[in-house]
Amino acid sequence: MEDSQVGKVHDYIVIGAGSAGCVLANRLTESGKYSVLLLEAGPPDNYPWIHIPIGYGKTMFNPRYNWMFNTEPEAGLNQRRIYWPRGRCLGGSGSINGLIYVRGQAEDYDHWQSLGNHGWSWQGVLPYFLKFEKNSRGASEYHGAEGALYCSDIGERHELMEGIIGAGSELGITRNDDFNGASQEGVGYYQLFTQHGRRCSTSVAYLRPARKRRNLTVETHAQATRLIAKGSQIQGVCYVQNGVKKQVLCGKEVILAAGAVQSPQLLQLSGIGNAALLQAHDIPVLKDLPGVGENLQDYLQLRLMYKVKKAITTNDDLRTLAGKMRIGLKYLFKRRGPLAIGINQGGLFTRVLPESRTPDIQFHFATLSADAAGGAPHLWPGCTFSVCQLRPQSRGSIHIKSRDALQAPAIQANYLSTPTDQRCAVAGIKFARQLASQPALHGLLDSEHLPGAAVATDDELLEFARAYGATIFHPVGTCKMGSDPMAVVDARLRVHGVEGLRVVDASVMPTLTSGNTHAPVVMIAEKAADMILQDATGKYL
Ligand SMILES: Cc1cc2nc3c(=O)[nH]c(=O)nc-3n(C[C@H](O)[C@H](O)[C@H](O)COP(=O)(O)OP(=O)(O)OC[C@H]3O[C@@H](n4cnc5c(N)ncnc54)[C@H](O)[C@@H]3O)c2cc1C
Repeated sequence: MEDSQVGKVHDYIVIGAGSAGCVLANRLTESGKYSVLLLEAGPPDNYPWIHIPIGYGKTMFNPRYNWMFNTEPEAGLNQRRIYWPRGRCLGGSGSINGLIYVRGQAEDYDHWQSLGNHGWSWQGVLPYFLKFEKNSRGASEYHGAEGALYCSDIGERHELMEGIIGAGSELGITRNDDFNGASQEGVGYYQLFTQHGRRCSTSVAYLRPARKRRNLTVETHAQATRLIAKGSQIQGVCYVQNGVKKQVLCGKEVILAAGAVQSPQLLQLSGIGNAALLQAHDIPVLKDLPGVGENLQDYLQLRLMYKVKKAITTNDDLRTLAGKMRIGLKYLFKRRGPLAIGINQGGLFTRVLPESRTPDIQFHFATLSADAAGGAPHLWPGCTFSVCQLRPQSRGSIHIKSRDALQAPAIQANYLSTPTDQRCAVAGIKFARQLASQPALHGLLDSEHLPGAAVATDDELLEFARAYGATIFHPVGTCKMGSDPMAVVDARLRVHGVEGLRVVDASVMPTLTSGNTHAPVVMIAEKAADMILQDATGKYL
């Protein structure tokens, strides 16, 4: 790195302008007292399809805005490599995600606290969920209205979703109009992170307004390759920008917000991780922290697809030029319709395992069907019931494959590697079929396209999960918070055993929250910003 250009010193350097990084950049510069450099490996988020909810399909396989990782062969999924999209632009994965707003269950956070993470109980995190929300429903006990992030109701009803809600009630599952309210259990429409039919990412909500501040510098196309340390003190970052090697130093802290895949990768490249792994790659060990990259957790989605009797699905809208024009005009003039909603309209949370006291599965219902998530829709009317287990027990890892920071690490999710996860997969599929066979859906659903009637026994259902299961894109846990020997950060998100370094993103979650992870990550970033500022002013002792 001797030939690197050395830049000016900033108080804080944030690595990764994703869901968490954009929140930090805003909050840490708000007072005007501190200077912040935000480094983002990807480009700006000026691709129009990022901001139109249905554009999900346009970024899913687009290497300019997507890291497009693949796992190693997964033993539990018949040795298949699973495609892992991750956002690679301002806004990160929050710029390419499905926009669904789910916080998880109060018990998830009480569990984090019970693991020794003081301040992370439901009562400890709720104020931060309220703080970030600008909810179209206004303020209440459960919602905030003064925050930066717009959360909106879908605002229109779909015949298929109404049928699913009816089928749920025939099974004793109540309609739930607010999965982030008193209880998560039930069936209903999701709220989305949209403002007037456009994506409201943290780049839009937090970064854009902050970019006017002179104490914030944002560098895109700037990929961090290694942390600079003196002894155990982190002093700065090496990065590559448009092929040029650069170094930058910080006065206070480096904050890693590169996500659950790349935060552990960057720690390992910098000599912080399992000593044996680092030595195998000739990386000098700065801190032997065996938990870096371990404890990887992700949801496995099992997608049941149905042929629909009426041409009312998004497949039908997208099949013809006239259909495309109709929904295009509806979006243009009313900001409504499939373009404003994206893929998933509604969800269902319930229990399928006898030992569960709270919902253990979640459904994503899409009025669309395709062979792969984000792929081209089928040419017939179709819909998808995607079911996933909410608290998988399988654990995987992220390990560097080489010292080259530009080479993707090995991702091993170990899906379906425990009997409980296998049982839950089978029970989830059975429940989906039970739902689909209720009278409320008789007039709407035709035949089951996948798995199909020939797949009947428990063994066959498990084999279907192994043959077709795929990620639903919520990896967490690879720099987990805690105080046990496998913990990477403490409850203030400081990396154990080094100074001047925190991790603030999905990787710090000790366990997956029960639901989609964007909102929990924004909450984590809001709470972390408070802690960083408290520590800077000595207000926390
Ligand atoms: C396709 C998809 C659909 C999803 N759907 C939903 C949903 O509907 N609802 C929901 O709640 N959640 C959803 N999620 C999950 C949610 O978006 C993520 O949990 C969340 O965005 C993670 O935030 P993060 O800050 O941890 O990481 P990210 O948002 O991924 O941010 C990491 C950032 O760091 C950058 N970066 C990485 N390495 C470096 C480096 N070395 N140097 C500089 N920059 C670097 C990346 O380019 C990226 O911008 C989805 C995710 C995906 C991918």
